[in-house]
Amino acid sequence: MKWALVGASTIAGQWMVDAIRASGDEIVAVVSGSAERAQAFAAQHHIAHALTTEAQLDGLGVQAVYISNTNDKHEASVVRAAAAAQHVLCEKPLAVSLEAAHRMVQACAQAGVVMVTNHHLRHNAAHRAMREQLSKQALGRVSAVRLSHSVYLPQHLQGWRLSDKGAGGGVVLDIAVHNADSLAFLLGEYPTHVCAMTSNTGMAKGMEDTAMSLWQYASGITAFTHQGFNTPFAQTHLQIHGDKGSLHGAGILTQAPGGSLELSTDSGTHDLPLDNDNLYQRVVRNMHAAIRGEPHANADGAAGLRALAVAQAVLKSAASQQTEAVDYP
Ligand code: NDP
Repeated sequence: MKWALVGASTIAGQWMVDAIRASGDEIVAVVSGSAERAQAFAAQHHIAHALTTEAQLDGLGVQAVYISNTNDKHEASVVRAAAAAQHVLCEKPLAVSLEAAHRMVQACAQAGVVMVTNHHLRHNAAHRAMREQLSKQALGRVSAVRLSHSVYLPQHLQGWRLSDKGAGGGVVLDIAVHNADSLAFLLGEYPTHVCAMTSNTGMAKGMEDTAMSLWQYASGITAFTHQGFNTPFAQTHLQIHGDKGSLHGAGILTQAPGGSLELSTDSGTHDLPLDNDNLYQRVVRNMHAAIRGEPHANADGAAGLRALAVAQAVLKSAASQQTEAVDYP
């Protein structure tokens, strides 16, 4: 399949170029708002066409696009790709508003193209192993989740994410969407209500760099989630607790494969073996399956939309200082 990259972004260069090529696909073009950045990216990654507008993709035989420009630009890029009958792999958060994300999902559905949201974490081996344990009822009745997803935003990424609300900055849009998707993958449901507090500890300008929230699910499960940009020494954790067992994943909310997973039951605490694999390569492989019409495990456009709805409810709750219902379009 022939791909174009829309966005000369860090994640495209660090992970997605290799992930796309690992599936045997070809990247024919990169589009950037800056000719210099497009050329530098194309030269570094051996891509034939360095372009400054998506209109220039016409005639290149592009069948799929990977969209990783800033969050405010995703909508226009997705809608254009759908109109050109190109399959879409779009970065998260899908957009900065639910209305925009809804239009994106509709455009892809109407065009009959596959739309994937790049929620890579559900492909982590520990997530997959947790889901298997949950499906075997190994934890009994699940009551609680504790999720700690606070990281340190590296210096080279301390730009729009910390200062540009219009571009979709802030830790909630950046990380809470991943957490909503991971928990939906594991629990099979999205929260109905959230209660949140956010703060700016000095890293961000005019927005939050930390968020803590409680999420309530229709099944009665309650989840505690921590999102942060400002904790250089924190490890990520995901714990799921039931009346017959607990799962504890450590170091599993990351871009690289790895981490560990323990299952505790009345027979003791044991490490579960992890079938580690590149998360982004799994996204691309699953996208191929979806295009072939086969079952696949990716987050689709609707999943990206629901994850965004959760993040928006977290922001709303932090602003109103009230528990808020999640508004799913
Ligand atoms: P970057 O800041 O690296 O890139 C975003 C855009 O910023 C680029 O498309 C580029 O615009 C512009 N840009 C890049 N470098 C520069 C520069 N030196 N000077 C000026 N502008 C620059 O962001 P990320 O790669 O971190 O994130 C991109 C998207 O991917 C976001 O939606 C983010 O949420 C998502 N993401 C997803 C991850 C995942 O695991 N699923 C992980 C990390 C990010 P242009 O294209 O015009 O050149």
